[in-house]
Amino acid sequence: MHYDVVVIGAGPGGSTAAYTLAKEGARVLLVDSRKEVGYPVQCAEFVPVQLYYKFPEFFSPETIVQKVNNMVHFTPWGEITTMYSEGFILNRTLWDKKIAGLATKEGAELMLKTKFIGFDGNFVFLKDLGKNEMLKVSANSLIGADGARSTVARLTGEYTKNFLITAQYTLRLKKKLRDLLIFFRDYIPGGYGWIFPKGDVANVGVGIDLDYKLDVVEVLNKFVKELEDFIYIKPILGRTGGFIPGEGVIEPVRGRVLLVGDAGGFCHPITGGGIANAVLTGDMAGRAILEGEIQEYEEESMDTLGQSINRAAEKRRRYMKEWDNLKFRIPKTWIAFEEYYKD
Ligand SMILES: Cc1cc2nc3c(=O)[nH]c(=O)nc-3n(C[C@H](O)[C@H](O)[C@H](O)COP(=O)(O)OP(=O)(O)OC[C@H]3O[C@@H](n4cnc5c(N)ncnc54)[C@H](O)[C@@H]3O)c2cc1C
Repeated sequence: MHYDVVVIGAGPGGSTAAYTLAKEGARVLLVDSRKEVGYPVQCAEFVPVQLYYKFPEFFSPETIVQKVNNMVHFTPWGEITTMYSEGFILNRTLWDKKIAGLATKEGAELMLKTKFIGFDGNFVFLKDLGKNEMLKVSANSLIGADGARSTVARLTGEYTKNFLITAQYTLRLKKKLRDLLIFFRDYIPGGYGWIFPKGDVANVGVGIDLDYKLDVVEVLNKFVKELEDFIYIKPILGRTGGFIPGEGVIEPVRGRVLLVGDAGGFCHPITGGGIANAVLTGDMAGRAILEGEIQEYEEESMDTLGQSINRAAEKRRRYMKEWDNLKFRIPKTWIAFEEYYKD
């Protein structure tokens, strides 16, 4: 079996790359270890409205649960700051399926329950998890879109070692919300807590720096106890969590291997926002391969996204490894405050 490109991971990054490539006639194999695209969801499901303007075909009424207008921040010292932040709360399972569906409609082959094992420069080694069999396919290029703890990155060069760890519940809202709510607290070190409204329910979570070595579920339980004004603490309708890359972009091109989305560290290391970046880098990587200019991907992704991500990563290293004097640290590290843009 020979493909122009094998893409590992059918999240937003990988499916977008497969779609961009297949649309132009490239022979593409899209591989994911999951049984079902987009499930289980490990996300709070917010995307900025700008993504809709760029890729309207990725959105349909069933993939959008609600619209939001602003991001409202609650500081430990009682200040409330509102930032314009128009966008959508998605149904990520349906949204991820939608993009993968567009890619297969354009001719990409989708292989589920199949795990990436290795790449020797010519052949990609995969394991069919259903049949417990090894597969070998040849490819001109490999795209690693296999998420924060990318195996493609680890086996081909630099890889992310510093993460935020998150935990999230789905809980019922007492009253519908139109905004995203962000909470900074001394007991959520190196991160923050969130309520992202999704119709009658909300994704309620916390993200903390892994280096603090805390039990993230205990931190989440403490957080939900202080949210009585907004949510019903019981019943817990869903539980999830996962890792967010915390150290910025890592070597997006290594020979014929390109990393997109979380696999390449294209996730904001402070806010944790990574869906739009995964889509954008997936598209850029696909276009660079089509044009025969793989190195261009590194330049375009660094110019458009990498610099601001790396700047945030630097702030993370400088200000968030010690979680004291929050009145000083939070404005230095969060995009809603003027101080963020001063150094
Ligand atoms: C709790 C939480 C909340 C978040 N909330 C938001 C939010 O509200 N907005 C936002 O923009 N971002 C959010 N993020 C970040 C966002 O989810 C990611 O940035 C985004 O999913 C990255 O997309 P991706 O395509 O790079 O990777 P992923 O979506 O992680 O997809 C990677 C895919 O690769 C597959 N895979 C992994 N390893 C292998 C392997 N060896 N072989 C085959 N397949 C493999 C996985 O099964 C998966 O399907 C959140 C993250 C977390 C953890």
